Amino acid sequence: MAQASTPPATGRGLLRGAAGYAVAVAAAAACLGFRVLLDPYFHDDLVFLLFVPALLAAAAVGGLGPTLLAGALSIVLSFQAIGFGMAGDIPLLVRAGVFVVLALGIGLIGSRLLHSNRAIRQLAANARAREAHLRSILDTVPDAMIVIDEHGVMQSFSSAAERQFGWMADEVVGKNVSLLMPDPYRTAHDAYLARYLSTGERRIIGIGRVVVGERKDGSTFPMELSVGEMVSGETRYFTGFVRDLTERQAAERRLQDVQGELVHVSRLTALGEMASAMAHELNQPLTAAASFMKGCLVLLKRKPLDEGRLEEMISNGAEQALRAGQIIRRLRDFVSKGEAERGIESLPQLLEEAGALAMIGARERDVRLRYDLDPEVRLVLADKVQIQQVALNLIRNGMEAMEDSPRKEILVGAHPAADEMVEVSVTDTGHGIGPEAAQQLFQPFMTTKAHGMGIGLSISRTIIEAHGGRIWVEPNPQGGTIFRFTLPRVRDEELASPDHE
Ligand code: ADP
Repeated sequence: MAQASTPPATGRGLLRGAAGYAVAVAAAAACLGFRVLLDPYFHDDLVFLLFVPALLAAAAVGGLGPTLLAGALSIVLSFQAIGFGMAGDIPLLVRAGVFVVLALGIGLIGSRLLHSNRAIRQLAANARAREAHLRSILDTVPDAMIVIDEHGVMQSFSSAAERQFGWMADEVVGKNVSLLMPDPYRTAHDAYLARYLSTGERRIIGIGRVVVGERKDGSTFPMELSVGEMVSGETRYFTGFVRDLTERQAAERRLQDVQGELVHVSRLTALGEMASAMAHELNQPLTAAASFMKGCLVLLKRKPLDEGRLEEMISNGAEQALRAGQIIRRLRDFVSKGEAERGIESLPQLLEEAGALAMIGARERDVRLRYDLDPEVRLVLADKVQIQQVALNLIRNGMEAMEDSPRKEILVGAHPAADEMVEVSVTDTGHGIGPEAAQQLFQPFMTTKAHGMGIGLSISRTIIEAHGGRIWVEPNPQGGTIFRFTLPRVRDEELASPDHE
């Protein structure tokens, strides 16, 4: 620092300067006292030697000036002790000269040391002030900050992190950061870190993602995570900034409620319109089919039987029935938003985001969302948005079914299935589904909710079947429901280039 060599003349600086001179005088006087006390044992040749401690004391406290003062006093006092008559003695004068040079040297070194000392103290004070400033900023921002080293061990945990995760800093600093994640990330995190360190492959670092975090009490919450990297000396640190999306959601809930109502109303209107248009369109082919059938009945009663006509009428009736089928198919395509845009997608990421999205809109705060994703399954051939819609719908249904359950757990699983498929499951601990209801669950407009539309599962089935998969439901042996669906799997080795993810 520039000002370290010329310390400012503050009140404290002046006081320190005066103290240096006072020490110089006192130390020289003390040495003289010793000199007088020890007089019988000292030869006059060593007259200056006893004053060296005075030089050192003055140099340590006051630097160059006080040391020179102590030196001058020492020479005067020494001559006083041995008598000023000795002033002409050449060897004594030489010793006095050496003593002066010594005083100068000690003074210079002392002042150097004092300056460095002051600079160090100043630097330490600056660093402390900066740290306090940074800490006060970090304590006020709503985002939590967690610093980990390259082994995943937490180095610091901000107060926002304490609020978000329910852990106190001293409980978690020194522990592995995987403590803050639900399975399977808890077990996989060390491997992620190790892979990043060895291959440089980035999944979150520098990118940022919506993921699920786990609080001390085991409940989970959606969070937006961004991670920065820092290299200090030999060690690499990662700083994670965490934004709790449930906190943001509280403020947005009111708005969502209003929007939800609007969407609900517009969906009802759209459905109403669609239903009347469909009734109108279906009416024609069905009426035509019915009249062809009636015509057949009339023809059957006539003798002789006109087989040619009968055949024509039956095939006309069948044609009209097929037309009615086409109209219904068109409607299903419309509902599932036409042609799917299928691509190779990372299933874990897709499900993870769907889970976080499902939690954002949820009213339930104490739901525990966990994942059980087989590392074998990574890639699927799917329209990401549509499949997320299905997963989100299943998770939301699960959450709604658990409103009155004491245990609120949702488990999202993914495992390899037969015929090159992947099976995804969404398990809840809700009120479950009766066997008769299970039969009709995927029918359109089947709902048991006061404000339900009953189209979520029927659209989900359309989407899954359009992907070449299957969707079904079964009871959860532990109470609740399990929905399962399958999707075509893509093996890593089938990919021509590895950077699809
Ligand atoms: P909606 O949710 O609008 O009623 P859905 O098609 O998504 O429409 O669901 C149809 C019905 O299936 C629901 O009303 C509910 O009775 C039942 N259901 C769906 N998921 C579950 C579940 N996880 N647990 C219990 N019942 C469920």
